[in-house]
Amino acid sequence: MEKLDMSTKFSINKVIDIEENPFDRQKRIPGWNQEKLKNAHVFVIGAGAIGNETLKNLALLGIGNIHIADFDTISTSNLSRTVLFRKADKGKKKAKVAAMRTKELALEEDVSIDYFHGDVVWELGTGIFRSMDLVLGCLDNVETRFAVNRRCWLANTPWIDAGIYELGGHVTVYVPPEAPCYQCGATKEQLAAARRRYSCDDFKRSVFEEGKMPTVQVTSSIISAIQVQEAVKFLCGQKVESGKKIYFQGRVNDFDILTLNKSDNCYGHATYPEIIPLPLSNSMSLRKFLEFVSKDELSGAGATLDFRSDRTFVQSVSCKSCGTEIELNKPSFRIFDTETICKNCITKGGDRSDVSRSEQVSPKRTVLEFNLTQTAENLLNMSLLQLGVPYRHVVTVYDSKHNYKYYELSLDNPFIQI
Ligand SMILES: [Zn+2]
Ligand SMILES: [Zn+2]
Repeated sequence: MEKLDMSTKFSINKVIDIEENPFDRQKRIPGWNQEKLKNAHVFVIGAGAIGNETLKNLALLGIGNIHIADFDTISTSNLSRTVLFRKADKGKKKAKVAAMRTKELALEEDVSIDYFHGDVVWELGTGIFRSMDLVLGCLDNVETRFAVNRRCWLANTPWIDAGIYELGGHVTVYVPPEAPCYQCGATKEQLAAARRRYSCDDFKRSVFEEGKMPTVQVTSSIISAIQVQEAVKFLCGQKVESGKKIYFQGRVNDFDILTLNKSDNCYGHATYPEIIPLPLSNSMSLRKFLEFVSKDELSGAGATLDFRSDRTFVQSVSCKSCGTEIELNKPSFRIFDTETICKNCITKGGDRSDVSRSEQVSPKRTVLEFNLTQTAENLLNMSLLQLGVPYRHVVTVYDSKHNYKYYELSLDNPFIQI
């Protein structure tokens, strides 16, 4: 029998994939714009169950600039819902591992991925949010949702919230400034839940019950898919419905669309009239900062840094047991309830944690406004970071005539590149 000419027989296989582009199929979808996805800066907050799915999706879609934030470390109970984590990752930073694995999966050649391991609520300033095209909330708590919502409104950056529970979940697109925001429809229970980490003194609780949500990987996969599909539509410039909550009930396969109402009294709606970027960082001393903004072309002599409605700096607090003044000199979010008992009282009665956690409010001395003439020397020598100013924050400064200006500390970059 005549030998088969192998090259002829299999020649048909040679025509496959003339277009060697991983995004070929999705680019065929009407309205798709791969260039816009490549140039987009997307900020994923939370690298847990939803975050893992969302990052995997962004990597395969070819999003060009992915930023990740989470404060947590990987535990064994996370592994069943986190495609990016391995058994050997236990104890490592979620944000860092997620960033590394997302980079491995990313199909965009020039992808840029960085991460921030820390507290999004207090440590990331409005300028970070301003530098993003879109924020994806992959969160499991109300407090961070409120904080992200507020920053996004201040920065005029859209965000998409996703949440899961048992076999269902929800996704909502929020586009400032006109649409209703996350806080508009906040219930009393949500407002209370947002304060779970804090004592009645506004200090951090040393002990609090961490909620354990019943959920499963397939749910986060479904909900993340909806979130990312909305993200793609938005980034490609297609129509997305802002302020409409998409509810999915997995038990009965039912979708509901809930139209949210805008509340006129909602303080989550605050915006800045104008943000002025300055080549400054929160690592500079308060004195240096005040000298800089006291220039005539900025706020002039008498410039005052105003913390009101943003954060609280605590100089001292009265001991909850004996009333002695305890020097703290820290922002309230870095103070634990156990620090409200003086050293003498601790020596006398063990750790006195029962007293420190009591619901009685102890008088405290706070500083909310800072300027070169009235602020104490020891505070002027502290850095803005020590005073509690987050990275790349937009700080509020008023001049001698009480005209307000909003300055962004543009030199800060707390993200670590992978
Ligand atoms: Zn609102
Ligand atoms: Zn005491």
